[in-house]
Amino acid sequence: MFGLNLLDEQEKKVALQRNNAQDSWKLELKEAIKTYSDLEKVLGQKLPKTTYPIFIPKNFAKKILRAGDKSPLWKQFVPHSEENKKAGMKDPIGDKNHSKPGKIIHRYKNRLLFFPTPVCPITCRYCFRKNELANPSELFDGQLKEAINYLNNHPEVNEVILSGGDPLILSDEKLELLFKEFSKIPSIKYLRIHTRTPIILPSRVTKELCELLTKYKKKFFSLIIAVHANHTDELDDEVRASLIKIKQTGIKLLSQSVLLKDINDDLTSLKNLFTNLSDLGITPYYLHHPDRVKGGMHFYLSLTEGRYLYHLLRNELPGWMIPKYVIDIPGGEGKTSAFNPESFDFDGSLINKDGQSISIDPLQ
Ligand code: SF4
Repeated sequence: MFGLNLLDEQEKKVALQRNNAQDSWKLELKEAIKTYSDLEKVLGQKLPKTTYPIFIPKNFAKKILRAGDKSPLWKQFVPHSEENKKAGMKDPIGDKNHSKPGKIIHRYKNRLLFFPTPVCPITCRYCFRKNELANPSELFDGQLKEAINYLNNHPEVNEVILSGGDPLILSDEKLELLFKEFSKIPSIKYLRIHTRTPIILPSRVTKELCELLTKYKKKFFSLIIAVHANHTDELDDEVRASLIKIKQTGIKLLSQSVLLKDINDDLTSLKNLFTNLSDLGITPYYLHHPDRVKGGMHFYLSLTEGRYLYHLLRNELPGWMIPKYVIDIPGGEGKTSAFNPESFDFDGSLINKDGQSISIDPLQ
């Protein structure tokens, strides 16, 4: 079962040439759609205005147009009037409660997040950081020297997770600087990159980037890329080619997906997504229950619904194809298992990382 191939033959050729041209991705980013009027022109219809920014590379906007306004692509990336509703939290996972010097987030003992950029290759309308990234503060402008000092003073941390924003939006030179500095810290064994870029801007996966990954995979016990993908419609030929190129560097490839109402909250969509990712050599890692983010509550579904779907998935796929179903406890308590095999019928309690029972409000 393969994703929609949204490109015709001519566009495939152009896409291939684009992928071969070093740094064409920078031009694509520079020329990305940033205004309602430009997006309306490409999509051929009036769009509801919201207070959140727009950023969509033109090539991706064409894929959205081909997929149509009922498609998972359109609904994930095109503004919706529901974004103007007040319900939800500005910082649903409590990033600020765990912010440390160097603009890092240290929530768990042995790993931390470092945000080298507030920039993403696209604005996902469901993003759990959409309020923070709409007005990026210094939190998303990581300061390398301070972060290195912090890591040297915290040898219990053995993994740095580059997040944001999207780290693969940085130039090869900036990425190399980060890789080099983190590889010099003796306690850092693992470096993980959270990214949506290979899906949205496959031209970013250049020969030079792959060489960089190949070079630095030897400097860590594991150099890992966790790709964010939510639906098989995102995995067209161009995207598959970019993922295969990363896979060929020999680094570990994981996936992260968000369970989203009306996008992938059905058994077929989830089954196809995890099967396709596995077939590409990507290990399904996390399925996130959606966060109650202000401006993104129309993507929210109850834990009961999520648990039931996950339960069905376990009958359909082997264990190694099924990601962990997790939820971030609101307020910064961290991730916990969202699946309760005993009961699907309440939104109630979760167990936090200290083993305490936490109640979250049922869905209103
Ligand atoms: S790529 Fe990730 S951080 Fe950026 S807008 Fe999308 S979900 Fe948010």
